Amino acid sequence: MTLTRTPIRAAVLTRAGSGLEIQDLHIDEPLPGEVRVRTLAAGLCHSDLHYIDGTLAIELPAVLGHEVVGEIVAVGEAKARHRIGERVVITISPSCGLCSSCVAGRATQCERSGELRQRERPKLTDARGAPVNLLGSIGGFAEELIVRESAVVPIDPAIPAREACLIGCCIATGFGAVVHAAGVSPLDAVAVIGCGGVGVAAIQAAKIAGARIIVAIDVHQAKLDRARSFGASHTLLSTDGLRDELELICPGGVDKSFEAVGSPHTAAQAFEILARNGTATILGLEKPGSRISVDAELLIEGDRKIRGAYMGTNQLPRDIPALISHHRSGALLLDRMVTSRWRFEEINEGFEAMKQADSIRAVIEW
Ligand SMILES: [Zn+2]
Ligand SMILES: [Zn+2]
Repeated sequence: MTLTRTPIRAAVLTRAGSGLEIQDLHIDEPLPGEVRVRTLAAGLCHSDLHYIDGTLAIELPAVLGHEVVGEIVAVGEAKARHRIGERVVITISPSCGLCSSCVAGRATQCERSGELRQRERPKLTDARGAPVNLLGSIGGFAEELIVRESAVVPIDPAIPAREACLIGCCIATGFGAVVHAAGVSPLDAVAVIGCGGVGVAAIQAAKIAGARIIVAIDVHQAKLDRARSFGASHTLLSTDGLRDELELICPGGVDKSFEAVGSPHTAAQAFEILARNGTATILGLEKPGSRISVDAELLIEGDRKIRGAYMGTNQLPRDIPALISHHRSGALLLDRMVTSRWRFEEINEGFEAMKQADSIRAVIEW
């Protein structure tokens, strides 16, 4: 069988700690159940950065990037669910729609997601024909990508691509954690630790959900200043005396806390600032083998809870119409979350910009 493979350019990680290299690769045709997407914009996420600096391991060479919006250019079969020309957001958690998690509305915990990422031949190959790995089977830092139909959700093309791409990771995670995982209500006092993309999305979602108090917590004053403009009612610099300072704002602690940093220390902090019966939702990805330590007395005698919410337990096909409504009404600010914009070729500069204290999201555009 002869394979038609299309030449594309992609930013490839060949060695941890060395930045990304723009290379000429070849992309396959979509198989039945898949679509090929021309990338329009991609957000640079801290998870990508963790692979670049080697904090998290991935088989190399690899194309990273998972916060993507693009346009479908090819479908794998005539009766495809999506059409050529549709603008879509990519989700890192493809789902089968049929397993017990999926039918229970927990698509991010699909029991077949690993299987759905398997493929009979590589999506991407290098100049010598050797396979190139893809983060989450997406590989968004490339001119084109191939994903399962169940990993794309159509979106209103009126939203600029540089803003719409945020929906795929940081908005899905922050908004989903507040709405689906923690079920924030107007009765709740909320705290968000870490005011990057995910944290700012959680702050905005808490405001939309009507939380009575929203405390933004970060180590950078610049990020706290921005957090206020997204709906935080109070801000606190993260210090060892955090619990005492929070006591002045919210006696007894907060009802719902969210950790959007990705360290055992801040995860433990999220638990320690809870009121009785409160719930801490941990969002930041951590190194394999990490342990979060919590005070047993606070946990047991105070009926406190700590939980994960992978990708915000999002339900993207259902969430996107809501996100678009809130964006249209001005309640969900996407444009101001994009703190710097870069051309694809400038991707390494974009990752440098991300490290600045007042950065929320750097976005690359094609
Ligand atoms: Zn991400
Ligand atoms: Zn499933």
